[in-house]
Amino acid sequence: MIKPNIRIEECASQVWDVIIVGAGPAGGLAAVLLARKKLRVLLVDRQAFPRPKVCGCCLNGNAIATLKETGLHHLLTENQAILLNEMCLGSKKINHTFPLQRQMVISRECLDSSLIQEAMREGAFFLDTTLAELGQLTTSSREVFLKQGELQFLSTAKIVVAADGLGGRLLVRKNITTHLASNNTRIGAGVTVFDPPDFYKTGTLFMTSGNGGYVGLVRLEDGRLDLAAAFDPLAIKKHGGMGPLAKALLKEMEWPLPLDLEIAPWRGTPALTGHIEQVATERLFVIGDAAGYIEPFTGEGMAWAFTGANFVAPLIAKGVGCWEPELAKQWISKYKSHIINRQGVCKAAAFLLRWPLLVKLALMGLKAFPFLSKPVVAMLDKPNKAATSI
Ligand SMILES: Cc1cc2nc3c(=O)[nH]c(=O)nc-3n(C[C@H](O)[C@H](O)[C@H](O)COP(=O)(O)OP(=O)(O)OC[C@H]3O[C@@H](n4cnc5c(N)ncnc54)[C@H](O)[C@@H]3O)c2cc1C
Repeated sequence: MIKPNIRIEECASQVWDVIIVGAGPAGGLAAVLLARKKLRVLLVDRQAFPRPKVCGCCLNGNAIATLKETGLHHLLTENQAILLNEMCLGSKKINHTFPLQRQMVISRECLDSSLIQEAMREGAFFLDTTLAELGQLTTSSREVFLKQGELQFLSTAKIVVAADGLGGRLLVRKNITTHLASNNTRIGAGVTVFDPPDFYKTGTLFMTSGNGGYVGLVRLEDGRLDLAAAFDPLAIKKHGGMGPLAKALLKEMEWPLPLDLEIAPWRGTPALTGHIEQVATERLFVIGDAAGYIEPFTGEGMAWAFTGANFVAPLIAKGVGCWEPELAKQWISKYKSHIINRQGVCKAAAFLLRWPLLVKLALMGLKAFPFLSKPVVAMLDKPNKAATSI
């Protein structure tokens, strides 16, 4: 367990430089970077860590580059993150395996907890099992309500960072912005299983797409098999649950079924594709999935979360010294140029995946011309420009 280094009662008696809501990859990295700038940082999460998270657990080249740039690559090596050598993509009984070079796998229990520990080492305070809600905006700060069981305290910060993830509605609940979900969006689903079939070998990402969704399978550093999927809600209903739908997709490919797949404790997510209208306003910045997310086929969510944290940190540091409305405008513009503009491939993939026959044709194309996968993989792995350039 990750032990918090502050009690909720102690959080109320001080004005924080920054309160970060959500200790996933976005909030965790932001806490590390801001604590390094000697700011008084409070990182709050409603859950206790390590906690499971529906995720494919694959870090692409872009995500790894940000960890290197911020001096955190050791978190991967120390925790025995696995190098991914290849991806086996299947649909309608056809599969094609192509090489990967820069991707790694690490369980979310391990990655998120390591980031929190690193943030605490750098001087940040971490409070778990605490729900945060926005309070009033004052002339020099923002109020944040912290709720832990029966306890509730009001805390204040010069800047608040909303890193509250896919279902996070910190700003929406205060009517600061609205959340727009795309039509027919799929939902995420995931589970980890012990003692998986040997077929799912370490270092290979298996991915199959069929009617009703797609599912990715990958071995984690501790030998468990991580299954992460995007499913049509109607298909879940039709098959009688997430487990049975995953089973149907794997059976279609004739891939071996992990034991008890149907009755395993699958977790779901809210609608996958959507965004909020405004990613920054006075003394408030939004990063990670809370800002916007697209179906996860290309496995880039954590790269976007890290980029967001890395690029917003210098703006937050300036805002703590002296708030200027220009800082919010700068984040809105950086978010568009460095994150929204990178989401095009992911949007195209999400569209293609609605049509299993198109996927099959694409796979046949890849089989005939294997070199075609290279530019796409290279594009997804390409690092964002260094944060220092802003
Ligand atoms: C099926 C699936 C597969 C995926 N596969 C991949 C992949 O292979 N590679 C990849 O890079 N990405 C993948 N992703 C995306 C990735 O999981 C997310 O992009 C990433 O977790 C975003 O990080 P975050 O920090 O923004 O949010 P999160 O990791 O969701 O963290 C948000 C945190 O905020 C906390 N929180 C929320 N509200 C509050 C509140 N009011 N008060 C306090 N705490 C709060 C939550 O408890 C949570 O811990 C996948 C996603 C799905 C659904």
